[in-house]
Amino acid sequence: MERRVPVVAMRKPVIAGNWKMYKTVTDSVATAVALKPLVANANRCEIVLAPVFTALKSVADRLEGSNVKVAAQNCAAEQKEGAFTGEVAAFMLRDAGCSHVIVGHSERRQYYSECDEVVSRKTRAGLAAGLTVIVCVGETLEQRDLGNAERVVREQLVGGLTGLTASDLDRIIVAYEPVWAIGTGRTATPEQAQEMHAFIRRVFAEGHTPAAANALRILYGGSVKPDNIAGLMKQADIDGALVGGASLNAESFAQIVNYK
Ligand code: PEP
Repeated sequence: MERRVPVVAMRKPVIAGNWKMYKTVTDSVATAVALKPLVANANRCEIVLAPVFTALKSVADRLEGSNVKVAAQNCAAEQKEGAFTGEVAAFMLRDAGCSHVIVGHSERRQYYSECDEVVSRKTRAGLAAGLTVIVCVGETLEQRDLGNAERVVREQLVGGLTGLTASDLDRIIVAYEPVWAIGTGRTATPEQAQEMHAFIRRVFAEGHTPAAANALRILYGGSVKPDNIAGLMKQADIDGALVGGASLNAESFAQIVNYK
């Protein structure tokens, strides 16, 4: 008799902390060192911390050999070194100990005018350097209220993820971060987040393959806290979280990582 293999998504959750422009090198290292033992047994998910550029190397050195990986919060769109004052190339981030890079965060789109084309170039630069790229998408409150949330997220996904090969897709993580939920204390309900995550997976399947879409990790971001992570993680298409404010403190980030 033919045995049917059920289609089960084997997606290892990712809990990533975005420290934004907070913490000196000393403070970053102290928080990372405090976090390490608190999450040492958390092997059901991947743990990532994204300190400021200046702290990346020191934090990565202190976390070496642990289960906590390091991400940069941004990278240059250019892939090679050159005369680009103030920029940091993805391969330099890798050299500093990063395994991941976040691109297209809404704060970069909003305050530094990053468009989908730039996000796409940064995504390709991160991949070319061997990094895993966390690509952020999400609508503003106005866009949601006008009924345009799905259209906006679709455009960001299609625009930000152009020109990728099948082998690139394993190193892509999408973070859905509704702008109205970031740093506001207002989280999307688990159902609202699930609805958009399922939509993102469908859009990804259209652009790539159903198998690639099934394997894609989609993180939720926007006021994730120790008391709301479990409800979010129960949703079928939520594969982790990108955490801002609550990741700045080792204990609260560890509670999110160790959610029950
Ligand atoms: C973020 O910075 O990506 C974020 C989601 O922030 P917060 O958790 O503070 O809303």
